[in-house]
Amino acid sequence: MPRTGLLIVNTGEGKGKTTAALGLAFRALGHGLRVCMIQFIKGPWNYGEQKAAQRFGDLLEIHTLGGGFTWDSANLAEDTRLAREAWDFAKQTIAEARHDLLILDELTYLIEYRMIAEGEVLEALRSRSPGMHVVITGRNVSQGLLHAADLVTEMQSVKHPFDFGVKAQRGIEY
Ligand code: ATP
Ligand code: MG
Repeated sequence: MPRTGLLIVNTGEGKGKTTAALGLAFRALGHGLRVCMIQFIKGPWNYGEQKAAQRFGDLLEIHTLGGGFTWDSANLAEDTRLAREAWDFAKQTIAEARHDLLILDELTYLIEYRMIAEGEVLEALRSRSPGMHVVITGRNVSQGLLHAADLVTEMQSVKHPFDFGVKAQRGIEY
């Protein structure tokens, strides 16, 4: 079967990588497509989308599985273990082929910090069902993923409220 599912990468330093992926999810849900988002980094800013997901029933799943990426060496082994566990779940989700759109949110950091090998990610993506669209978000995307992608958008920061001391706003940051 010819591949119709796109590999989409949202990268860059500016805000909008994860929210653009959620925008695609919203659009896909409008067509009744089945969507899964796996969040590889746990942060206090995830809550809005997790609550919204409940309103879409079985069509939208959001799994927040990773650790907090504390960068505290005492927790590095634990962060790595959680990252591997999350990646195993992602591989299983890809193999099950139950979704039309799969979002791997902040996956790039797991590759950057060598918690998982890029080759392993590329292999899993190659083996996915031909119709499955995949979105990967995160800064510092690796060369192999860039090469494999069909669509790459780099978010560029022009201004950000944090630069002016504005605190995180509900519904905007989380
Ligand atoms: P969002 O989830 O809002 O789309 P993102 O996925 O593009 O953001 P991440 O790298 O995942 O960005 O970081 C998430 C947090 O970092 C958000 O709180 C976001 O507002 C903040 N952030 C993103 N860009 C900047 C920037 N240029 N300056 C300061 N903070 C930023
Ligand atoms: Mg993000």
